[in-house]
Amino acid sequence: MNVPTAAPRRALPILSAEKIGGLKPELADVIEYRKSGLSLNWIVGCPLECGYCVRHLFDNFEMKVPRRLMSDEEAVTRLVGHPYFRAHRTPIQLLNRATDPMLPIVKPHVFNVLRRLDEQGLTNHVLIITRWRVNPEDCAVLNSFKHLRLTVLVTHSNIANPAIEPVDSTIAAQSLRTLYEHAERYRTVLYWRPIVPGLNDSDTDIEQARELSQHAHATVFTGLFFREEIASYYEAHGLPMPYGETARRKIMPEAAEERILAAFQQGSWGALFRKTSCGVAYAHGEADYNGHYGVRELCDICPEEQIARCHAAWVKPELTAVTQEARVLGATGEVEVNDRAIVVEGLDEPPRYYLQHGFGYQCHDRAKPHHHRQHGRAPIGWKAGNGTRSA
Ligand code: SF4
Repeated sequence: MNVPTAAPRRALPILSAEKIGGLKPELADVIEYRKSGLSLNWIVGCPLECGYCVRHLFDNFEMKVPRRLMSDEEAVTRLVGHPYFRAHRTPIQLLNRATDPMLPIVKPHVFNVLRRLDEQGLTNHVLIITRWRVNPEDCAVLNSFKHLRLTVLVTHSNIANPAIEPVDSTIAAQSLRTLYEHAERYRTVLYWRPIVPGLNDSDTDIEQARELSQHAHATVFTGLFFREEIASYYEAHGLPMPYGETARRKIMPEAAEERILAAFQQGSWGALFRKTSCGVAYAHGEADYNGHYGVRELCDICPEEQIARCHAAWVKPELTAVTQEARVLGATGEVEVNDRAIVVEGLDEPPRYYLQHGFGYQCHDRAKPHHHRQHGRAPIGWKAGNGTRSA
């Protein structure tokens, strides 16, 4: 079995301090707390050129050759020493914003970091997202970790326009099948995204996703991040504009969701989820670690046994305990715990996710309300009537 026992023999070079200093500060900062977990990004640069890549946001799209910002050892030390890291609890993501973790020159470093985390006996969730090739030897390595709860999410869009999606979706489809076939200790999720109406939501696209959903422990469907920087790239390259405006949150129009759910009600699918953490938790037989159960309308497509699991695990936290932790993190104004979420003021995303993952209960910012049924998504493509508007 090809289990790595030492650092990769042909290691990726580490960028000089001067070059790191030239990166956007957000990109040079290797740890970012995101909703699905504490994200470690010690390698940047990618040759895959997906038109909608978030690297546009970091002015990093032109960097095609992956490079490390620090050694694997230092990356692990920084992660487990991060003030928001909690052993066995904080979900972790590896390389989810500036490269693909399964590129041949990147994956030895990913395996090295996984091994170092696993050797510490950590049982945290670890999420890896790829659209690249995964072979049976990779699966053997992924099965070899004894403690981590590891999930490989395979991004599959079926977008046929090579200017938007240069990587043929059949690569991801094959990787998913291979991962599913060889899964023992890890789990694999079909990450069906980004769904864009008129681009990749035809009946054929939906049928393809249905078929693939049977080769995954769970399927998560979601929309497109369409920020200013990505819109500018589309414009400069003459790509068809998916939406007339940009948004802070992912765009998943109501009509596209309804078409997918109508197909889901009729066909034979694997379990389907709107939220990444729901799919990951289900794949491991656990309750959702983001407390989405508080936003009950998200659960209407969830398998019964999973609803029961989340129901059992979902406990409204004590206001005093929440207020105490929120104040330490810097919350201002009133702290509220209602039947759906903790609501705070004055905390940006990292401390909110810290509270959310700590209490297993949603934590929202009073200034950015989540609207009914449109949970955590942009208002584009949703009917007026609940404080939102149609596109
Ligand atoms: S029951 Fe609700 S919160 Fe739990 S996994 Fe399903 S959708 Fe997510």
